[in-house]
Amino acid sequence: MSDVRRPFRPGYLELARTGELEARARRLDEMLRRCEICPRACGIDRRTQLGVCATGDRAVVASAVPHHGEEPVLSGNMGSGTVFLANCNLRCVFCQNHQISQRPKRFVGRSTSDEELAGIFLGLQDRGCHNINWVSPTHQVPQLVRTLVIAAGRGLDLPIVYNTNAYDSTEVLRMLDGIVDIYLPDLKYSDPAMASTYSRVPDYPRHARAAIAEMYRQVGPSWVRAPGGLLRRGLLIRLLVLPNDIAGIRESLKWIAGALSPQVSVSLMAQYYPAHFAARAGRFPLLSRPISAGEWDRALEGLQDTLSGENCFIQDFRSAPESYHPDFSNTERPFGDEKAE
Ligand code: SF4
Repeated sequence: MSDVRRPFRPGYLELARTGELEARARRLDEMLRRCEICPRACGIDRRTQLGVCATGDRAVVASAVPHHGEEPVLSGNMGSGTVFLANCNLRCVFCQNHQISQRPKRFVGRSTSDEELAGIFLGLQDRGCHNINWVSPTHQVPQLVRTLVIAAGRGLDLPIVYNTNAYDSTEVLRMLDGIVDIYLPDLKYSDPAMASTYSRVPDYPRHARAAIAEMYRQVGPSWVRAPGGLLRRGLLIRLLVLPNDIAGIRESLKWIAGALSPQVSVSLMAQYYPAHFAARAGRFPLLSRPISAGEWDRALEGLQDTLSGENCFIQDFRSAPESYHPDFSNTERPFGDEKAE
């Protein structure tokens, strides 16, 4: 474990010391009995039934690896400790992870005990990862917080990244206050009609904006960073540019600047390529191609017109969409010293 990250103590360690982390885990677990963990509000008992997310009361993990393709402030030199949770509460027709998110039968019988998952977190820490990155955590929050109680007791001391599609419940997010250090939400759409057509959730903009406003309330616009530049606490909103202005990027940027702050950090992403149903001929014609240079330029202009924060990341348009994780650029270079962390 590096010495540089020692001065930062993730918030959950103090909550674990006082017993509050365990109390929150119990409250979240109770919610599984009549599940309203996400805005779908299926209302079913997840110990015996499955809702839209097709996930019961145990965690289901697709994979866990050090990941070097996240924004540099997360990946650093040793990688972000990504835990890809299987299944999802959304049904995006263009999902680039659809094998993980929308094929629940593939994961039947592969649920993970809390003890096993704690071991996965600790294994990523032992491999030198800079954080524990919960990817698509929304529908598995109770399981993850239960696991964090165990992992914290066994020496986990890395910040938690909540890497979400933002279709989250604000009530659940309030229970994550002080547990999650880094919020990494998508903001997928600004138009309910687009959200309905392409993710089957017309209320996505309303819920996602409320969720991100709650994340902002918890961590604000400023970042806490390690001496080497790695992000330790803060909010970074991801905006994936879609063809034909389906994402409504400019509207989302205006909302961020007006409802939150122009200082909020965003990551503008060019990596869209047709996947899943969008890759099938004739199914979703407006999503059947990568974005054009003109669409990318308009998104960049929107960013320049609205936000003034120092930590905005911009993917390299030339590397998209051939590469699944195109390079990010930034106004600064936090990793000039390869041995910083
Ligand atoms: S977490 Fe799953 S079961 Fe619970 S409300 Fe959301 S989709 Fe339904």
